[in-house]
Amino acid sequence: MSIATTNDLSILPLPSDQDASGRTFGTEEIAAVTAALKSGTLTSTKGEFTKQFEIQFAKIMHLEHAHACSSGSAALHTAVAAVNPEPGEEIITTSITDMGALSAILFQGAVPRFADVDPRTYNVTAESIERCISKRTRAVMVTHLFGNPCDMDAILELARRYSLPVIEDCAQAFLAEYQGRMVGSLGDIGCFSLQQGKHITTGEGGIVVSDRDDFARRMFLFINKAWGYGDPNPDHYFLAPNYRMNELTGAVALAQLDKLDFSVRQRVATAEELTQQIQSVPGVATPTIRSGNRHTYWKYCLDVDPAVIPGGTVALGKMLREQGVFCAPRYIQKPAFQCQVFRDQCTLGSSGFPFNLAAPEALDYSPELFPGTFEALARVLVLPWSERYEARHIDYIGKTIRDSVRALL
Ligand SMILES: *Cc1c(COP(=O)(O)O)cnc(C)c1O
Repeated sequence: MSIATTNDLSILPLPSDQDASGRTFGTEEIAAVTAALKSGTLTSTKGEFTKQFEIQFAKIMHLEHAHACSSGSAALHTAVAAVNPEPGEEIITTSITDMGALSAILFQGAVPRFADVDPRTYNVTAESIERCISKRTRAVMVTHLFGNPCDMDAILELARRYSLPVIEDCAQAFLAEYQGRMVGSLGDIGCFSLQQGKHITTGEGGIVVSDRDDFARRMFLFINKAWGYGDPNPDHYFLAPNYRMNELTGAVALAQLDKLDFSVRQRVATAEELTQQIQSVPGVATPTIRSGNRHTYWKYCLDVDPAVIPGGTVALGKMLREQGVFCAPRYIQKPAFQCQVFRDQCTLGSSGFPFNLAAPEALDYSPELFPGTFEALARVLVLPWSERYEARHIDYIGKTIRDSVRALL
């Protein structure tokens, strides 16, 4: 299936993560789904596939516990529920992230307190987090954006100093490494997504990981309506949804997990090749990666300098799109705190909960507090990426970038 919207033969259709062209489904997934169906057991409370997926994922992460759930957003909600903040307490997070990370905080009655990001890595830093710490801070939630690890030593040192648990949103960062250690295993809880566009996918799905028995127990319960499966006198111990993964999904997840290493290695190799090809293009900087870290390229981001390239990321993005490279200038367009849910505090009825409990400084979204965020969004150009890219795709993307920049200069 062609993804190009034009008949221009000079356009090379790129594999897309939204359909089979850019994904890795094969006989393994089909066999697994068939086996799950034939077993007649599609709930993970009784089946084997989801359980195996959890065991295998924990092993890959070198962690004690992994619990699968229905989405990355569910995983993040589960992580926040494990921390169990009091209503109105604050969880420090990032201004450039997926809404799933923020609704997770709000659903548990806590207030997202936004930290600014480094304009070159798009990630929160220990300094930007520290500026947000208050008496009400209950946890820190970092996002390893695009697959590039946050500077975890400094963040973990800070969190220890204030006795704050750290939740890592690894939805975009499967197998990314910070100084030789896997992200998701550095803080207290790691959260992953298996949504259609992630490194491996089941369409929708998620998983949480932890080495902490107390958090893992609470997460298992939260996913399961807090029903104490296996306990001598089980009950519904607290308020919790049904966030379970089903066995059809678990079967696909298990088959996809075997392909994770391939997916990541392919993405890294092709990304490094593109970096070589566009290294000397004026006004365009390739990803900033700390030495010793492994960026696993959920997407490949360019930093476009508008002082060099007239029209900056929007102009370059438009030209790339016209040539079939369906990139996203400015990524999420605006900082998360400018979304309607934050602007109008649309939550439960007309209560404004939990914003109505927040300290005023937690809701101060003045642009001057977020210079890194606005600079990052003004300059970032997000290229779609896939484990199915081949040399010819990279050559095409590289040439398209070089030619487009030359045309704009
Ligand atoms: C995809 C994503 C999520 C949400 O995952 P879903 O499975 O779509 O709910 C959360 N955080 C980040 C950073 C993501 O990229």
